[in-house]
Parts: sequence; C-alpha cells; structure tokens
Amino acid sequence: MSINHIQNWAQSKDGQDIELYTSAHFLTSETQNKILFIGGMHGDEPAGVELAKNLLKWLQITVEKKEHLKFTIEWALIPCINPDGYLKNQRTNANGVDLNRNFPSLSWTPQEEKNRYYPGSSAASEAETQALVELIQNVNLKTIIHFHSWKPCIVKTGEDPLEISLLLHAASGYNIVETIGYDTPGSLSQYAGIDRQITVICTEENDDEPIQSTWDRWGPGLQKIFYV
Ligand SMILES: [Zn+2]
Repeated sequence: MSINHIQNWAQSKDGQDIELYTSAHFLTSETQNKILFIGGMHGDEPAGVELAKNLLKWLQITVEKKEHLKFTIEWALIPCINPDGYLKNQRTNANGVDLNRNFPSLSWTPQEEKNRYYPGSSAASEAETQALVELIQNVNLKTIIHFHSWKPCIVKTGEDPLEISLLLHAASGYNIVETIGYDTPGSLSQYAGIDRQITVICTEENDDEPIQSTWDRWGPGLQKIFYV
C-alpha cells in the first residue's frame, strides 16, 4: 500500500472524523521535502475542499499507475480540517472559532477585529487546531499549502526555495503576495511561517469562479509540486 489513510486522525468539536492521507514514508522518511496540503480551514470556502479532494483523487490514480515512484517529496493531505463548519457552510468551527486565528503563534491575541475572526478562548483551544499543531511539531515540514477562496491571490509566507508559489502562479495566473493586506494574528502563516520558518502558502481561489473549475485552474501547478 502506497497511501496511508487514517480515517479518524482527529475528531472535530462535534465528533466528526478528520481524515489524514500520507505518502507511505511521510512520517519516517528523513527527506527534507515534506509538504502538507490542507483543505477546509474555513467551512464556507468549499472551493478549498474541492481542490484537496481532487488532488487526492489525482494522487490515488498516480499511485495506482506506480508513477509516484518518481515523486521527489513526501506528502500529507487533510481534505477538510473543519468538517463542522463545512457541514454548516460557516467560516468557523462548531465553537464559533476562526481556526486560522487560533494557532499558538507569538502574535496570538484574544482580541478580534470582527466576530468572524473570533480567535477562541485561548491559543490552540480547538481540537482541530491542536491536531494540526501536533503534526507540525512532530514532522519536519518544508512547506504547508492550505486552500481557501476569497479574492484571487497566492499568499506566501517565508522563503520558498522549492519555488512552489511560482508553480501555482504559473498554473492559476493569480498574483503572489507576501501578505493578505490585514493582520492575521494566530494564523497558520504566523505560527508555522513566521515562528517556525516553514514555508506557508495560502491559495485564495476567486470566489466568483464556479467551484467545478477550481481543479482545472490549480491542478497542473499542484501536480508539478510532487516533482520539484
Ligand atoms: Zn479562508
């Protein structure tokens, strides 16, 4: 078996399974090129889950054809880190917490600009956040890519020696930016990118595009990442 599937890798607040898929040697390999893909951080951005699921489908086909033997990275993929929010089409998790403000970064603050950015009662208060933090602490990741939708752009935090953001730019045509334009204390970019020097790339699909077109736009760039 060449893809590990952990059906109940973590549990959401409301008790839904959060699934994790990895390449066979993701946890044990010494390679420096370990990449984590995450969909569904914001439950009302289904384009991100669509993208993660399509990427998984492509990986399953590729492994079946044994073409994954040419991969230069070890990978992990979480199709939907916020299944409770996804079920209700709401940004936050079942506790009303914006997971992308709940990471235990140095910048975490209990203050929120708006309700939709509620960062939780404390840093990493949420089960979904805790599961990701544990994974990030236990695995030496080179890059994290998480899939969102809003205004079209690619937000890159930190160095990007594998030039993954350029691959995604070439495929999507969306611009690479260093910041989304406002402060994001407690975000994954702050925790993993700023505090831990992991390259964090946040893809923002254009909210106005039909969800079915997401894979066509990003797929060719995402596939190239496996051969960097
Ligand atoms: Zn988002």
